[in-house]
Amino acid sequence: MDYKKHITIVEDWPKEGIQFKDITTLMDDGKAFKSAVDEIVEYAKKVGAELVVGPEARGFIVGCPVSYALEIGFAPVRKEGKLPRETIKVDYGLEYGKDVLTIHRDAIKPGQKVLVVDDLLATGGTVEATIQLVEELGGEVVGCAFLIELAYLNGRDKLKGYDILPLMTYE
Ligand code: AMP
Repeated sequence: MDYKKHITIVEDWPKEGIQFKDITTLMDDGKAFKSAVDEIVEYAKKVGAELVVGPEARGFIVGCPVSYALEIGFAPVRKEGKLPRETIKVDYGLEYGKDVLTIHRDAIKPGQKVLVVDDLLATGGTVEATIQLVEELGGEVVGCAFLIELAYLNGRDKLKGYDILPLMTYE
């Protein structure tokens, strides 16, 4: 399916110079959204995922239907102070400054095969931090799936050795 026609490009948002890829117009279209989720479900089966892990907030939107379809769990990765029980955390670099991501300490069983899902791979910082959390808990990252890869930001360089599925790539 040509998913790109469902993505709305918003110039200079949230700040000047950023070309924001808005996935809500893909989600709006039931058939296109289902088709995208189905492709990730097939990928998850292929890599043998036993758990889906996704960072807030759009990683939830894409990751949860995948875990539902496969009857496997979903573990949320969130900004600091959002998860109610004991967490582990990782600092990660943003374009300007730093942020913190957390996951519940008991979210992953040692050796569990994990699929990391997010809407978009940009610089790769978010996914790299998510992988770090998964591995610190003893999980094995068997794949990383995205709706969109912004190839010109070279996020892949941070994911060497990991299997990656983007449904769309912008060069
Ligand atoms: P990064 O950590 O740089 O790979 O950025 C990943 C996160 O930032 C993704 O979860 C996206 O939701 C968001 N993001 C970064 N750049 C864009 C963009 N141009 N359009 C839409 N979302 C973006």
